Amino acid sequence: MKADPAVQRQLLDLQTVDTVVAQRTHRRRTLPELAIIEAATARLAALGDDVIRAQTAIGDLDREQKRLEADVEQVRSRSARDETRLTSGQFSNPKELQSLQQEVQSLARRQGDLEEQVLEVMEQRETADAGLADVRRTTAEVETELAGAQQRRDAAFAEIDAELTQRQAERAVMLGGLPADLIALYERIRAQLGGTGAAMLRHRRCEGCRMELASTDLSKARTTAAEEVLRCEDCGRILVRTAESGL
Ligand SMILES: [Zn+2]
Repeated sequence: MKADPAVQRQLLDLQTVDTVVAQRTHRRRTLPELAIIEAATARLAALGDDVIRAQTAIGDLDREQKRLEADVEQVRSRSARDETRLTSGQFSNPKELQSLQQEVQSLARRQGDLEEQVLEVMEQRETADAGLADVRRTTAEVETELAGAQQRRDAAFAEIDAELTQRQAERAVMLGGLPADLIALYERIRAQLGGTGAAMLRHRRCEGCRMELASTDLSKARTTAAEEVLRCEDCGRILVRTAESGL
């Protein structure tokens, strides 16, 4: 393939733009913020589950406390009724009096037990409330972190996208000045070799694969007509000769 040496050098300019485009595209895909956003989003989902769990536990404790308090109330009113009967002193026989006294004692024990259980439930409720407050605080922190990361991501995207738009415009102009067969070869190599299709021969090295040219290849580069499009014998990329080639 033949191409004017100046055109061959323009291919290097195109390569420079394409390398920048590839770098920015890679950066857009691998922004650290993306990992932060993903982790924070997963964290918030888990924290949401924690909130529901904590609220359910608190609801259960509330119901338990109400049930126990109703029991206490029941025992208390029964005890008060018994006390009234005891003070009235109207008993048909001593056995009745004894049985009533025993019941009053038993009710007092039962009330004590129930009140102790109420206190326990209230303590558990306090712990559960504190736990829920903790989860909510953490949620707020993670939400702030997420919002910050989203903001930084959006700013980075805007910057990268603006540059990509500009580079694509430059690229379009460059493509207009290059022969179709040379572009086709360049694109084919780029697709095969991951991004770089054309490399400068600089100080006897191919800048594509960084290999120093063998002496036979060097003499070939020296003697081949400047219009002839050279390929690196090592990596296969288009090798562009310039004043820095060291030939
Ligand atoms: Zn090479």
